[in-house]
Amino acid sequence: MRAVVLRGKGDVVLTDVPTPSAGPGQIVLRVAANTVCGTDVRLVRGEKDAREGVVLGHEASGWVHEIGEGVTGFEVGDLVAVLPTISCGSCYFCQRDLEHHCETAHLFGYVDDGGLAEYQLIPAEAVARGNLIKAPSDVDPAHLALAEPVACVLNGVREYGVELGDTVVILGAGPIGLLHLKLALLRGAKNVIVTNRGAERREVALRMGATHAVDPTTEDLGALVRSLTEGRGADVAVVTIGVPELFDEASKLVRTGGRVSAFAGFPKGGTAVIDPNDIHYGQLTVTGGSNCRRSDYAEAVSLLASGAIDGSEFVTHRFPLEQALDAIDLTADRGGIKVAVTPDGA
Ligand SMILES: [Zn+2]
Ligand SMILES: [Zn+2]
Repeated sequence: MRAVVLRGKGDVVLTDVPTPSAGPGQIVLRVAANTVCGTDVRLVRGEKDAREGVVLGHEASGWVHEIGEGVTGFEVGDLVAVLPTISCGSCYFCQRDLEHHCETAHLFGYVDDGGLAEYQLIPAEAVARGNLIKAPSDVDPAHLALAEPVACVLNGVREYGVELGDTVVILGAGPIGLLHLKLALLRGAKNVIVTNRGAERREVALRMGATHAVDPTTEDLGALVRSLTEGRGADVAVVTIGVPELFDEASKLVRTGGRVSAFAGFPKGGTAVIDPNDIHYGQLTVTGGSNCRRSDYAEAVSLLASGAIDGSEFVTHRFPLEQALDAIDLTADRGGIKVAVTPDGA
């Protein structure tokens, strides 16, 4: 079969690999869609490592194609989304509902072969752990593939919380920033202010329901936030771009008792400055969020399947598998919002 393989650091090719077949406890999916993520770009650029020889892709959906001996609960043709993190279920973190921080976790698209291929093998431990979440057959598989980023954002939102009537500032209008926007609106935020340098993404944010879209290079974000909150500051500020200075800025935008989320990944060794009195007197809450639990993932599938999150607002481009490398290039160039690779590009 055809697959996108990481041959070595930063060396990614579309090539032929053996087609998997399902052994005991395993399932083979016919991949329906795999959306491309910034992490795939970093793998292609050699900025991040994964197992040599691994098939890339960690945002996948597929149809059950072959069911191994002993597997119950699935039928050939079922549409499923693939939770990328395979956790052990028994370590300290798994026992405390923090399976996304499992000590021995391994991921599709990094260690286990991912969804940028015609078929994907789901190992027995992943089948048994519930990594395949079924979806109604009429859901667009490219939208279903978004379950991973949606779930990661859900994990972040749970940490910082959005209450009815809140004023939320989201720094950055990439796919992740736009998902924070969507979830803030679903949770009943009154004002959602999205910042972005590029005008195009600001337009997208407004179309998706942002009450304000701000160009941080020309507009006074702090003044806008104060004017909307009787001078108090926002309830929440979320940093979705990995620029440490934005964290400093976010912590100044929130009210007494407000919340700040360092949701983006930041460059190694980056530092942010925070006045401890903002935490003491200001009762500032600082949260983050990386990866997601199965419960986040299942919730993401249901939000996408119901249309509460409209995948068509996010998936702006589709490429056939033969053009998967172009799909990664387009993501690197920030073209569109999310780029999906589907078997035939449809
Ligand atoms: Zn991703
Ligand atoms: Zn574990």
